[in-house]
Amino acid sequence: MEEKLHQLKNDFIAKLSQAKTAEEARNFEIEFLGRKGKLTAILRSIAGLPDADRPKAGQMANTIKLEMELAMKDRMDAMEKSSDTAGIDATLPGIIPQTGHLHLVTQAIREINTIFEKIGFYTVSYPEVEWDWYAFESLNMPKEHPARDEWETFFIDKLPVGPKGLRILTPHTSSGQVREMEKKQFPIRMINISKCYRRQIDVSHVPMFHQFEGLMIDKGVNITHLKGVLDYFAKSFFGPNRVARIRPYHFQFTEPSFEVDISCGVCLGKGCNLCKEGWLELGGAGMVHPNVLKAGKIDPKKYSGFAFGWGVERTCMMKAGLQLPDIRILYQNDLRFLQQF
Ligand SMILES: [Zn+2]
Repeated sequence: MEEKLHQLKNDFIAKLSQAKTAEEARNFEIEFLGRKGKLTAILRSIAGLPDADRPKAGQMANTIKLEMELAMKDRMDAMEKSSDTAGIDATLPGIIPQTGHLHLVTQAIREINTIFEKIGFYTVSYPEVEWDWYAFESLNMPKEHPARDEWETFFIDKLPVGPKGLRILTPHTSSGQVREMEKKQFPIRMINISKCYRRQIDVSHVPMFHQFEGLMIDKGVNITHLKGVLDYFAKSFFGPNRVARIRPYHFQFTEPSFEVDISCGVCLGKGCNLCKEGWLELGGAGMVHPNVLKAGKIDPKKYSGFAFGWGVERTCMMKAGLQLPDIRILYQNDLRFLQQF
């Protein structure tokens, strides 16, 4: 009996040492220590031994059983440890995980914010679902005024008309002007960057786009301050050689109003094939109209200010020197395009 048990233990240990996987080792465990295993068969046979031999044989069998169980545990531990390094060739080049980056437009928004923060402007955020009052009426565009036609606005007719008119999807960031004035904290030096919505979609328009709006209001603010801020932006965003210029124009909510150009990056204002006359159109600006100040409960005799604003998409495309055949590609989530920036 004793010899039989030792033989069994040795067989088990020999087989375990050959096991290459944990599964193989477990199969051996079942074969030897399982309910129908070899050791169990021997234990059962002990019952048939003479009374005098039984206790000693039983004790021996239990010792062997414990030793076998211990061997099993050691083998499993060893395999677990070696599996951490098994099959790894440390000399192979690693797999570089894919990392994303911010969208071209998000990058531009952050850069614009940072540029204006440096000269004391602060960023605000106003509702995308806006009252007609803030988007049009307070900006010197009463109901039925023809100037409203330019915006191709989405009106939300499911929402009830409130004290400030219908609700719309804001078609421009200028809707933040009077909202900011209502805070009554001077000087106002706001940058409002937001999504805007217009019913337009073609190669140069998307129905959802971004604008940024600058507004400065204080005592004694004049056009030279505006020009200085525009020049500062042109140099900071487009490069130290660039300057801005303003041309007379007309907007309902500024008086006088201007269109803003920046000098061409190729010819620096001399004129070339790209720009024709040396300048590239950027957006609109002007001195805040007295009626708009009044709508914001600000006395136009005491305070004055300027505003400017234009599209983020267009501005960042101009910086990158991009001439996209179709602006909609910005929002088609095509990695072949997005990974280039
Ligand atoms: Zn040029």
